Amino acid sequence: MQFYLNGYAPGDPDIAKEALPDAVDVLVIGSGPAGALLAAQLSDFPAIRTRLVERRSGALQVGQADGIACRTVEMFEAFGLGQKLMREAYWVNETAFWRPSKQDRTRIERTGRIQDTEDGLSEFPHLIVNQARLQQYLLDYMRMSPSRLEASYGLEFVTLRVEAEGEHPVVATLRDVAKGSSTTVRARYVVGCDGAHSRVREAIGAVPRGDFANHAWGVVDMLAVTDFPDIRLKAAIQSADEGNILLIPREGGYMVRLYVDLGDIDPNNREAFRDITQEKVLETARRVLHPYTLDVKSVVWFAVYQVGQRVTDRFDDVPVDQVASRLPRVFIAGDACHTHSAKAGQGMNVSMQDAFNLGWKLASVLDGRAGPELLRSYSAERHAIAQGLIDFDKEWSKIMASPPKDPGHPELGGVDPQELQAYFVKSGRYTAGVATHYAPTTALTAAATHQDLARGFTIGMRFHSAPVVRLADAKPVHLGHAARADGAWRLYAFADAGGKRLRDLAAWLAESPDSPVRRFTPPGADIDSVIDVRAVFQQGHLDIKVEELPPLLLPRKGCFGLIDYEKAFCPDLQRGPDIFALRGIDREQGALVIVRPDQYVSNVLPLDAHEALAAFFGRLLLERR
Ligand SMILES: Cc1cc2nc3c(=O)[nH]c(=O)nc-3n(C[C@H](O)[C@H](O)[C@H](O)COP(=O)(O)OP(=O)(O)OC[C@H]3O[C@@H](n4cnc5c(N)ncnc54)[C@H](O)[C@@H]3O)c2cc1C
Repeated sequence: MQFYLNGYAPGDPDIAKEALPDAVDVLVIGSGPAGALLAAQLSDFPAIRTRLVERRSGALQVGQADGIACRTVEMFEAFGLGQKLMREAYWVNETAFWRPSKQDRTRIERTGRIQDTEDGLSEFPHLIVNQARLQQYLLDYMRMSPSRLEASYGLEFVTLRVEAEGEHPVVATLRDVAKGSSTTVRARYVVGCDGAHSRVREAIGAVPRGDFANHAWGVVDMLAVTDFPDIRLKAAIQSADEGNILLIPREGGYMVRLYVDLGDIDPNNREAFRDITQEKVLETARRVLHPYTLDVKSVVWFAVYQVGQRVTDRFDDVPVDQVASRLPRVFIAGDACHTHSAKAGQGMNVSMQDAFNLGWKLASVLDGRAGPELLRSYSAERHAIAQGLIDFDKEWSKIMASPPKDPGHPELGGVDPQELQAYFVKSGRYTAGVATHYAPTTALTAAATHQDLARGFTIGMRFHSAPVVRLADAKPVHLGHAARADGAWRLYAFADAGGKRLRDLAAWLAESPDSPVRRFTPPGADIDSVIDVRAVFQQGHLDIKVEELPPLLLPRKGCFGLIDYEKAFCPDLQRGPDIFALRGIDREQGALVIVRPDQYVSNVLPLDAHEALAAFFGRLLLERR
């Protein structure tokens, strides 16, 4: 077997290396969580030429982030990866709190143990799995996608320029890390997912603003023997004088991660960093854990993770004063946009949510479904979310880093254990990733005029799934899992009392020339490829006949015109309150819930608001006749 004739190329030599084409549609820089997710989403569109370049010589193997919020698992389910993640991951079901003992403040004692995620917040748990594994899932997804997309390793982004005209106006310069040679690639769009020190950010003149305070943690993934009883529970441990630890049990049943708080460190003092050795961090950990012992058998990964709380002023290449006159061509996502502490486990999650927000928009524009104005909403929406994240992180970090209140000396201040626990519960929705709420500032998020028809599907928030029974095969499923990461909009039509409005809507959507389903689906494409209509009836599945469903709910698809039987659902009457009760849907009038391709609720309308529905999509999609 001969290879490397034209220079060393990292990775599996059995995989044919395709040279980077001269021009691509989307060039993604960086294969971290944001870049891998974005490339995975775009890889579902084989007509869109996507390339993912990464300066490392291969995929990440170990370390970095590990917390996977419920919302991220919901998103992974849209890629068909939710179950796989749940099988491999540690489930954070409960969190324990440890504080100095009142009797002897040199010892820690357990002061509380609470449920980690509030009941009903998501159908998925809070998980822990190595960032490297999570990225690998996405890289595998890309490889198996219709595009058969592979990351191009060993290529470093150097700089870019955006030309005023041309189909591929962004010219990116890349450097082959092994050979040192440079090459240029033209792209319609470039997305910098290149981390906290982003060069793409620098190239577009965007500026990270905020606090350079540089709080540091020693992070150790280890296999150890200990008599600390909560070693298999997430635990926030505060000692009286030795600092604090966040303990995160890891996937596989044995490994554990300790975040040891090292306080603020001068980023310019390299000496201070060299002093923070693995052994010193472990010594601190042992002192915090006193009287429990920690016998470390193997250190799997050690890092000093140091980060400021910063948000970049804009997430695309359009200066604020030119937003109305210029369209974006270059974007940044993930740590390139925002950095903050690791303690609330948000970095990787928010980074992937950035990418999920951008991915369907780029796909829609490049596929001709929507005009390029849609891309303006990315920076507008995600910048507000990032700012909220930093505000939350500041409060969270402050409270986590405060010394515990000494009941003998309340005048010294500090945080009461009960106060900490209460804050943890209060912020649970945020850390689960389900608190994101887009304001009605873009055409994507409507005003809450008809919110009363479906109070549990808050406009601007993610579609909160609930159990239903699929009518045709009587299978209990989650309604939200109908959503795939395929760039399609979803209309969930909840039936009115008699079902007439629902049937009229289905007939109008199928037949009217004003129907968005008819107007915006390209000729020859499956009828659900741009707008996918799903109906939920009020009766149990034994009381509705499949053969009486309107034709729109039994669409003919594919080259054989086969019937898709998975569009109609009924409440799950076996398990507690049904979906109408759980999500506050008006049983008399029903409701139409419009959901974006990234699973956020865009609008709630009455079932008979046909004109409003047509107008809503008329503002967003392009006619395809
Ligand atoms: C060393 C380290 C330790 C961390 N530890 C923790 C932790 O313990 N807990 C936690 O919650 N979070 C941690 N984080 C943060 C967490 O990993 C990030 O929030 C998350 O990975 C953000 O994802 P991202 O895709 O935006 O960026 P990253 O994961 O940073 O990915 C950026 C990718 O771009 C590549 N890249 C960078 N520049 C270029 C270039 N010029 N050309 C081509 N490729 C480029 C990088 O090699 C990298 O693969 C850590 C981050 C780092 C770097």
